[in-house]
Parts: sequence; C-alpha cells; structure tokens
Amino acid sequence: MATRKRLSILGATGSVGQSTLDLVNRNPDDFDIIALTAHRDVEGLAKAAKESGANIAVIGDPERAGALADALAGTGIATAAGTEAICDAAGMEADLVMAAIVGAAGIPSVMAAIEAGTTVGLANKESLVSAGSLMLEAARKRGVTILPVDSEHNAIFQCFDHQRPAGIASIILTASGGPFREWSREEMRDVTPERAVQHPNWSMGAKISIDSATLMNKGLELIEARYLFDLPPDDCRIIVHPQSVIHSLVEYRDGSVLAQLGAPDMRIPIAYTLAWPERMDTPCERLSLGEIGKLDFEEPDPVRFPAIALARAAMEAGGARPAILNAANEEAVAAFLAGRIGFLDITAIVGDVLDGYAPDAPESLEDVFAIDEAARAAAQKQMDSYTA
Ligand code: NAD
Ligand code: MG
Repeated sequence: MATRKRLSILGATGSVGQSTLDLVNRNPDDFDIIALTAHRDVEGLAKAAKESGANIAVIGDPERAGALADALAGTGIATAAGTEAICDAAGMEADLVMAAIVGAAGIPSVMAAIEAGTTVGLANKESLVSAGSLMLEAARKRGVTILPVDSEHNAIFQCFDHQRPAGIASIILTASGGPFREWSREEMRDVTPERAVQHPNWSMGAKISIDSATLMNKGLELIEARYLFDLPPDDCRIIVHPQSVIHSLVEYRDGSVLAQLGAPDMRIPIAYTLAWPERMDTPCERLSLGEIGKLDFEEPDPVRFPAIALARAAMEAGGARPAILNAANEEAVAAFLAGRIGFLDITAIVGDVLDGYAPDAPESLEDVFAIDEAARAAAQKQMDSYTA
C-alpha cells in the first residue's frame, strides 16, 4: 500500500480479529498496530500484541489487569483494563479502527472511534442495529467513513454507486440458509448448541453462528443494511444462496444487477476494509466458477425461520424496536448456548419480548442502554417461564 496505516483492533482475539491480524502479520510493512483489545482472553491478547508489535493491549475484565501486565512484562507494550480503557483505546489516534467486538457491548467503543474522527471498519453489526441512528448521525457530524466488514454489506458497498444513489432500485442480501436450511421445525426442535454452531460455509464466533442457524443473522443484517445504505425497507431484500459465492447484489433502476463474488473467506472483505480505497493481496482461495459449476437460489421460508419477519417488522417500526430485537436475541442465544432453552425457543422469546411493550425511540446513547437493559430483563423473565 502507498502509506503505512495505523490500525487498532477491538475484539482482537475473536474470529474477525484473528483474521484481521492474519492479514496484518503477512503485511508488516503496511500497518502499525496501535491498540488491541479483548474481553477475557489474556493469553490470546498477549500473543497477538507481541506478534503484531502493538503499542497497547487492553483487557475488558478489570480483574485480569494483573495477569495481562505480567504476560507483557518487559515487552514495552503498555497494558490497561476495563470497559472505559477499551473506549480510550478506540479513541486513540489511528487511521482505522476495526470494530470486531460481538454484541451491543461494542456500542461505546464504536462511538468512541467515531467521536475521535477515525474511519471505522464495522464488523460489530449489533452496535449498528441497536444504536444505528445515533451512530450514523455522529459519523455524519465528524465526517467519519464507516466501512462495512460484514461480507454482504461489504459486497453491496463495492457494487453501490455512492455518487448516484438515486439510480439504485434495491439491494439484495444473500443468505447461505445456515446448517438447517432443509430441516423441518420438528427436526430443529432438539438440536444441540454443538450442532447449531457448525456452519456449512463459514467459520465464525459462536454467537453469529447461532444467529446464522436461526437466520436472525440475516434479520440483523437487513437492519444493518437499511442503516448503512439508507434505502426504504421494501427495497432491502434477502435471497437464500447456499453456496455463499455471491456475497450480495445491487439492483439498478434500469434492470442492471451488480454482484460481488468470492470464496467464502472473511479475509476478503476484511482486506478490502484494511486497504480501502486501495486493494491488497490476500492468501485467499481464488474463485473457480468452472469447478463450482452452478449457483442455486431460493426464497427464505418464513414459517421455518420466523427471525426474518421479526427483524423486518422491527426495521419497519424503527425507534426502539431494533435495539429490543437485538438485546432479546443476545440473551436468548446465550441461554441456548448454555443449554437453558431449546433452539426454537430463541426466536419465540425474541417475538414475545417484542410483543411485550413499546418504549419511545432512543434520543441518546443512555436511552439505548436503558432499552437494551430492559429488553434483556424481559427476555430473562420470559425464559424463566419457559424453563420453570
Ligand atoms: P467472536 O466471539 O469470535 O469474538 C468476539 C471478540 O469480542 C473477542 O475478541 C472478545 O474478546 C470480544 N468481546 C466479547 N465480548 C466483549 C465485551 N463484553 N467487551 C469487550 N470485548 C468483548 O466474534 P466474531 O465471530 O469475531 O464476531 C465479531 C463481530 O463481527 C460480531 O458482531 C459478528 O456479528 C460480526 N461478524 C463476524 C463474522 C465472522 O465471520 N466471524 C462475519 C461477519 C460479521
Ligand atoms: Mg454476514
């Protein structure tokens, strides 16, 4: 690349964080690592910080401050701990912040990066789903570019005529359909967390893997797309495409449809984000259309996968609904992973919580946090009644 980039990675020990570091470590002349953060994995964070030569490593859990300091003693790498320290790291002067924390827990750090005026590579879709309007308003005020890392939104970003958006008729998100694409609801009833995290095409963190199995991931992505590309809800669509070769499409008014294709490897959209507006080499498999032979498409099934309708309704209603949807889903997914509720209960609980109440639209981040907290409490209450 023409100039070295100063990069911070929030959630450096996760699936997206590690894929980002893989690319960075292969191209040491192109990046200076400012800050790396993680939630609890001291060992993984220390290893990543040493390998990449980070200036500072930050662990979210304050009780692990000492362990992190010990692990990096004598390296010259500074350490810090706690949620505020993660926000401070996100606000440090850099050219790009890779936001790869999972869940609404990432909201404060994404906002800190935006407030600092730094370009954000956004993997953390839940932060945008919950706090989308406020986040975009802050980005507009500070002139901050948000580069989508999520493969579908990255594909749309690449095909989207940003100078002439009036020419665009719709965007079409592709969905692999997840591991249970062909399963009946009866078959899905008893699936275990171990089975549900096994995605046919992508290797990802546990939470997004479960979201991919319920198709809530596509629901969250629908809301993410609505915010990022500012199209009316009816012009944001979903098509199931089991091979995950086409990562999404943009339809123009004249009937032209542009798509971005590639191997299903997150390092491709991550590399786009890291090098933007340039391009960089990756070790990723090249697409061989001859070998693939054919691509399949089908409409998503709303009966077997109610998550999409729940998300679409939340997107259309706007206000507090997307944050409620997200918070209830995070709680339900965690409970499913812990063996507390069944697979089909996840979307049932989200639906129950959404039906329960309708708070006012958030006007501040504090409002978002309050909505998030109340929805989590409502989900917990609902789950108690399921498991009682
Ligand atoms: P992951 O679970 O593998 O990693 C999450 C990272 O966030 C870890 O580094 C963890 O330490 C950190 N973290 C978790 N909770 C935290 C908290 N409360 N405070 C601070 N840090 C915390 O997740 P992932 O699969 O890498 O996904 C990260 C984000 O990227 C998610 O929003 C996901 O939806 C999105 N995404 C992931 C993929 C993928 O292929 N994995 C693809 C598209 C989008
Ligand atoms: Mg995606």
